[in-house]
Amino acid sequence: MDAIQETVLEIDLQKLKHNFEFIKSNINPKTKVLAVVKAFAYGSDAEKVSLSLQELKVDYFAVAYTQEGVLLRKAGITKPIIVLHPQPINFKTIIDNCLSPSIYSFRLLKQFIQATKTLKTKHYPIHLKFNTGLNRLGFVLENIPQILTKIAVNDSIKITSVFSHLAVSDDENEKAFTQKQIQLFTQIKSEFKKFDSAIFYHLANTSGILNYPKAHFDMVRTGIGLYGFGNTDKYDKQLQPIASLKSVISQIHTLQKGESLGYNRAFIADQITKTATIPIGHADGISRQYGNGNGFVIINDKKAFIIGNVCMDMIMVNITNIDCNEGNEVIIYDNKNTAIPFSNAVGSISYEIITATSQRIKRVFKQ
Ligand SMILES: *Cc1c(COP(=O)(O)O)cnc(C)c1O
Repeated sequence: MDAIQETVLEIDLQKLKHNFEFIKSNINPKTKVLAVVKAFAYGSDAEKVSLSLQELKVDYFAVAYTQEGVLLRKAGITKPIIVLHPQPINFKTIIDNCLSPSIYSFRLLKQFIQATKTLKTKHYPIHLKFNTGLNRLGFVLENIPQILTKIAVNDSIKITSVFSHLAVSDDENEKAFTQKQIQLFTQIKSEFKKFDSAIFYHLANTSGILNYPKAHFDMVRTGIGLYGFGNTDKYDKQLQPIASLKSVISQIHTLQKGESLGYNRAFIADQITKTATIPIGHADGISRQYGNGNGFVIINDKKAFIIGNVCMDMIMVNITNIDCNEGNEVIIYDNKNTAIPFSNAVGSISYEIITATSQRIKRVFKQ
């Protein structure tokens, strides 16, 4: 790839393939794989990443919101797409675009049945979400008889799958909690089995897939794993981050002792200090927490700490001891210096920093 001339997010689709195949190597060949591509495929690029996954024969997609699903349909995704957190105002758009809602409450169930009746659908696929301990969204075990009664008298919809979500599958010290979730989900499954044998079941997110083989059921849902993170050292080593955030030194300044840097004069040089200005700021996803010596970028294989306040469009870094020139490449994170240490420097996690990458940053693709 040519030398970087502006801030770009490089996305390596070969690494996506590697991660997809790694996930598949951890599951039974009969188990379906759902790719979670919400939030622009975790800040990368929803269209290109989803099209690659479709070529790799992923079985299902999931997004958080309706408009994300519409975007995938426009891009040419033909596989089933679950909308994890639909709003009733979008039910018509969901049906018009052949998206399938996650239905997690009687309020939604009632309103979705109304929408399907208005649009005269037959057996429209829905996915029922159950709460097994996350306490965020979902029906509970005791709701099943009432759900079944409602479905029985409405042939405008059909239950395609029943699912739940794990709360601490990445935490070794919380195995008992996860086991309880798996057990409760198994109980939910056996209640539905009595009524309908066509429904399929899914529970595991990336860490659930890797750490709990008993949680795979009929399909697994992987998000962060596809993008190269496994939430443990062991799996982080086997997966490959697909995105590298890179920039360039716009200008170099030399501050004399006592001179200040940036807004609010938040940095005052206590000695001669060489600084580099880089075209990426809080509007691009580098939050203000990274400023004032907390966060760092990589220049010429060395850590250059962000000094002063993070601006909207720029950061300034300390390069006093780094040999570099204007126009040189700056790595925010890549495969070697990953988003993990970068985000951990301010008490954040890979999920947050990668999804924060603003849409104005150009995406470039490596096939
Ligand atoms: C976001 C999400 C996932 C993906 O989780 P990862 O930890 O990124 O694999 C799976 N299932 C549901 C319901 C989600 O909301």
